[in-house]
Amino acid sequence: MTGDDVPDPRGGDHDGARLTVVGLGAAGASLAWRLVDAGIPFEVVEAPAGARERSPERTWSTWGPHGPGPFGHLVAASWPRVRVIAPDGAAVTAELGSWRYRSLSSVDLDRAVRERLDRAGVPVHERVLTGVPPAPAVDTRPVPVPTTGRTLLWQHFLGHRVRTAVPTFDVRTATLMDFRTPQPAGGVAFGYVLPTSATEALVEYTEFSAGLLTAGQYRDRLGEYAARAGIGAHEVVATETGVIPMTDAVFAPSPSPGVLRWGAAAGSVRPSTGYSFSTLQRQADALVAQLPGPLTLPAPHRRRHLLMDSVVLRGVADGRLGAGFFVDLFRRNPVHRVLGFLDGSTSPAQDLALMATAPRLDMLRAVAAVARTPHPPP
Ligand SMILES: Cc1cc2nc3c(=O)[nH]c(=O)nc-3n(C[C@H](O)[C@H](O)[C@H](O)COP(=O)(O)OP(=O)(O)OC[C@H]3O[C@@H](n4cnc5c(N)ncnc54)[C@H](O)[C@@H]3O)c2cc1C
Repeated sequence: MTGDDVPDPRGGDHDGARLTVVGLGAAGASLAWRLVDAGIPFEVVEAPAGARERSPERTWSTWGPHGPGPFGHLVAASWPRVRVIAPDGAAVTAELGSWRYRSLSSVDLDRAVRERLDRAGVPVHERVLTGVPPAPAVDTRPVPVPTTGRTLLWQHFLGHRVRTAVPTFDVRTATLMDFRTPQPAGGVAFGYVLPTSATEALVEYTEFSAGLLTAGQYRDRLGEYAARAGIGAHEVVATETGVIPMTDAVFAPSPSPGVLRWGAAAGSVRPSTGYSFSTLQRQADALVAQLPGPLTLPAPHRRRHLLMDSVVLRGVADGRLGAGFFVDLFRRNPVHRVLGFLDGSTSPAQDLALMATAPRLDMLRAVAAVARTPHPPP
């Protein structure tokens, strides 16, 4: 169902009021999928295609045990091996064993969820919502990034889906961080390569830093990286850009009772990685388990992981933790410990083991810098 009028969602037949899910991005789509599974009546409000508010198409990558998992049937590509490359070209390559690094396209997820909602008779109102939705609702619309944290960096990138004339890529290996790029002051820069065949890959130039670049600078740096990585003559078949906040700020809770703010707007993006997709899957499971009771926000990340992220962000922003820190994480730890930490699934003992491999003096200085800066309220 489409149309400009959003009927009052109250009047549904579930516990006296029908739930509204605002936004059908990673968070909204993940919740909607599970609400259909659970047979809970709801409706969706999503900005129409072409609206300024509509989130652009993107590729979501996650990692974890190989298998169907949430949206496993939509995975467009997966890799059994990951690689991190030091500035001098030394590569740390790790087999993931029973895990996979994998990607799915927001276009495929959107299509699959909408088909499912259509079959289940769930109304989808194509509309730019202004103001607060009627309760009960889960509101996943973006909010301005809070600037109240100790550190705010941006993960910003330009990605090209490229097709080369000659076989170039190792289709079994995802290159997560290739530091053979000039490094910015107060940040890090790296290439990211997700091959889908010997001649096709998503190739990105990414920075974690405080300032954005111009469109021309992104293009130049991506071009320079591609040349350094040995990616010869190629055509660009698609482009993806992104600006993701990396901050230890506390996101403000929903301003209205009965309306749960959730998603990137509620701190689901992991500060030290810019990833949120697997966190959103965990939170979506927890939210559906709370129904038909009132919804409260499932904590996106563990407190100790947020503290460690604060330290890492401070260290990167101060220039103490750079390419070497990230390369050594992968060089000195089993890959599942690193990826588990980045995904929030490691135990305290694993976290301690991980931290023991970090450069002690630089970490202590970053801890001291964090401790000196009190965390202001949201
Ligand atoms: C380019 C890019 C790539 C990323 N890649 C990854 C990745 O590989 N792995 C990962 O884990 N994370 C990734 N992230 C981070 C994070 O997972 C994504 O930002 C994710 O989309 C956040 O989900 P969300 O539902 O909170 O927000 P969104 O996916 O942006 O969803 C918000 C929804 O609200 C809708 N909306 C907005 N305003 C209105 C309105 N007024 N009325 C109605 N609807 C509205 C939008 O159209 C959109 O559908 C990426 C982020 C970006 C920007």
